[in-house]
Amino acid sequence: MKETAADFIAKSAEKAGDRDHRQKINFTIGRYDAVVPNAKEQFAHVHLAREKAKNIKWKAIETLDKQLEKFEAAITKRGAKVIWAETAEQAREEILRICKEKNCRSLVKSKSMVTEEIELNEFLEEHQIESVETDLGEYIQQLDNEPPYHIVTPAMHKSKEDVAKLFSEKLGTDPALTPEELTLVARKTLREKYMEAEVGITGANFIIADIGAIAVTENEGNARLSCAWPRTHIVVTGIEKMIPSLHDLALFWPLLATYGTGQRITVYNTIVTGPKQPGESDGPDDMYVILLDNGRTNILANEKTRESLYCIRCGACLNACPVYKNIGGHSYATAYSGPIGSVITPHLKNLDDWKHLSYASSLCGNCTEVCAVKINLHELLLENRRESVDDGDTGFAERIGWKMWRQAMLHRGLMNMGNSAMKNWVVNKFMPEWKKNRGNMNFPKKSFNQMWREKYGNR
Ligand code: SF4
Repeated sequence: MKETAADFIAKSAEKAGDRDHRQKINFTIGRYDAVVPNAKEQFAHVHLAREKAKNIKWKAIETLDKQLEKFEAAITKRGAKVIWAETAEQAREEILRICKEKNCRSLVKSKSMVTEEIELNEFLEEHQIESVETDLGEYIQQLDNEPPYHIVTPAMHKSKEDVAKLFSEKLGTDPALTPEELTLVARKTLREKYMEAEVGITGANFIIADIGAIAVTENEGNARLSCAWPRTHIVVTGIEKMIPSLHDLALFWPLLATYGTGQRITVYNTIVTGPKQPGESDGPDDMYVILLDNGRTNILANEKTRESLYCIRCGACLNACPVYKNIGGHSYATAYSGPIGSVITPHLKNLDDWKHLSYASSLCGNCTEVCAVKINLHELLLENRRESVDDGDTGFAERIGWKMWRQAMLHRGLMNMGNSAMKNWVVNKFMPEWKKNRGNMNFPKKSFNQMWREKYGNR
């Protein structure tokens, strides 16, 4: 077994038995579940809205090359510089190059899963550049030296008492502070960091092709400040965040807010079309947009998995997933967790090391049911499994086992061979993995076939 898979199983087993963890997650997701239905009411036909969003993303992804060029041409005209990064390494090197050019020793960063994907903070630290997370949840996670737990709510697994304790340990505050007081402590500390930062880094929730802009959506105002306050603004975004037109935001902003946090609209929604223009008093002198591939074109090349690029990272599929809720975000050990993470990670990283994630699903279909843009997530998980089997990812014992199972299913006579005691012995002896967390199987004395014949004869 690969190290990544063994690590995943070990962490999952530990978390699944952690009652405190389960209680906290159920509490937070319970609050999310309570507000989402209210937000959905803003749509006359929420299913149609999701269908429409899916169609828009279909168009954007099917014509991605043209949309990206259109975006580049429009935003470049207003002075922004577009950088194409094929790999995480290229993206990191470009950011470092810009930071060196600007003599940057400290930067502020708003929440961005793409920067988690490229492991930017660790990289910058190695180069003696301080990168400060300014989203409150991310700031908490950074203080605790932990990666985000969830793509929308990074510190979802921490109670307010956990945060008060953490602040007291790391910042020397009173451990009895209320959430409001803790927020003020973070605000004061972060304001100072903004004053020192030469560079601000943000992600992009959407890249808008027709006007050449990026759209950022958030609840705290920190992303807006990261765009506008430092002299240099760097945007790091995956190429799949594309939408064709500014008008599409009228649908995508409320949809993302509804499925992300159960709000009708997120508090701050910003459209950035370039650096400060002549005659303007505010905004950065320079703006760079790093368009990251890092495996996305592999997904694009596959007609079936291409659909996963429609994702708007609302996190709804994580909140609905029974596996995620039991094992938690950190067990996945990837930037993207939950159902969407299990679908895309094997393609963004490599199938061999990360295919186990596609098996960590009950295939209940709840993720597909709740997806804001109606991605057939559970079918894509099956598709990943099919690919890994085609790649020869099955042991000898498993192949033989399935062959025998197939024969038995196709031949009633074989299934009728042996009594229940014998079946119990075979299954309980030769399926140790199945039995690890379960009791012994106990076949009934009579098979279904026998009972049927006794009742209805041979018809
Ligand atoms: S796959 Fe769908 S539900 Fe999951 S994060 Fe993406 S858009 Fe949201």
